Amino acid sequence: TTEPNLNTAAQDTSKLGHHAIPSYLDPNDLGPYAIYLEQVERVTPYLGKLAYWVETLKRPKRILVVDVPIHLDDGTVAHFEGYRVQHNTSRGPAKGGVRYHQDVTLSEVMALSAWMTVKNAAVNLPYGGGKGGIRIDPRKYSTGELERLTRRYTTEIGLVIGPEKDIPAPDVNTNPQTMAWMMDTYSMNVGRTATGVVTGKPVALGGSLGRADATGRGVFVTGAEALKKLGIRLEGARIAIQGFGNVGEAAARIFHDHGAKIVAIQDVTGTIHSDGGIDPRTAFAHLKQSGKITGLADTDELTRDAFWDVDCDVLIPAALEKQITEANAGRIRAKLIVEGANGPTTPAADDLLAERGITIVPDVLANAGGVTVSYFEWVQDFSSFFWTEDEINKRLDRIMGEAFMSLWDVKEKHGVTLRTAAYIVACTRVLEARALRGLYP
Ligand code: GLU
Repeated sequence: TTEPNLNTAAQDTSKLGHHAIPSYLDPNDLGPYAIYLEQVERVTPYLGKLAYWVETLKRPKRILVVDVPIHLDDGTVAHFEGYRVQHNTSRGPAKGGVRYHQDVTLSEVMALSAWMTVKNAAVNLPYGGGKGGIRIDPRKYSTGELERLTRRYTTEIGLVIGPEKDIPAPDVNTNPQTMAWMMDTYSMNVGRTATGVVTGKPVALGGSLGRADATGRGVFVTGAEALKKLGIRLEGARIAIQGFGNVGEAAARIFHDHGAKIVAIQDVTGTIHSDGGIDPRTAFAHLKQSGKITGLADTDELTRDAFWDVDCDVLIPAALEKQITEANAGRIRAKLIVEGANGPTTPAADDLLAERGITIVPDVLANAGGVTVSYFEWVQDFSSFFWTEDEINKRLDRIMGEAFMSLWDVKEKHGVTLRTAAYIVACTRVLEARALRGLYP
């Protein structure tokens, strides 16, 4: 029968094949995927009959692990571990970035791909979720080595990507140049120029205006809406930012341009603080010129840990996962946290912050601006008709603003956090599609 059997008492559960933890994860160190699984547990009571399909959310649809060998500049051969995970394709092709980082693991890429599924559904983009990664510290390699790495990786995952299958994009330590190499390699392999296979490309290659700032812009739009709800003035609001890359730098600049004050910036190179406010453009120029954030005029240097004690109104984690934990959630002085990063807050920290009355705009909403403009890029590539920057920003602001409002209403209605509200809306959309499509064959 294809009818949901909701009478679990009648089932022989030993035959269901449900193993909460897939055998390909280390049971002693589940990594970031454990955070995602916990988030799915929390939303399940709100899914009604669709909870019948919830197991679908707990396991990725497809995982590809590849060996990426390259010639180094000195003539030796190096091997790197590469991944592409397609978590879900119920609502459309898989979509999500590619991360280059020395700490990339399968669990991390699984979690990031699952968060893409939730993010794309939360803002109602016609995509599933995917993510890729290579376990490498790109800072140690030359441009030529990174190009060879990217081209070989693209060829290896060429089996599963494509404009209608799975569309990669930039993530931590990848950028428009990386996407240009991916687009070229895929195009050479299929024998035609396929611009729609990746997004976040340079504008000269079918990239979209507004894409570079889009994630930071979405962080600003949702953060500003949240401030309104909390009755805090944007003008003069004190902001602390962790991460000063594509997301953190743009978010800092846009908040600054709207009259907010950046009081602290932390990145891989250090932490700076100034009660008087930091000009993000000056800070970025200083970082480019000196290679580190510290040493900027009129700022003092803090230890990494002291960042969490900074007196501020808004905290923007815009770096990596698991930054806000039980260990520091009690110290945070912000009234609002806007998650530019993916997965920066553990579920235990979520609870602590909720108890303390601190509002979180969750990653799957706050940083969805990037993939939203990726969607615009993909649509523009398909139609070979390009929009103005103004048009793009207006559409982005509208989508992000409306998504914020509707999720805020769900939060109020159910008396849950904004994260759970986002999961209720997103998981309902994914599982509705799942139920309507049914099981093949
Ligand atoms: N890597 C970004 C994210 O985590 C963007 C993904 C995309 O544009 O596909 O949302």
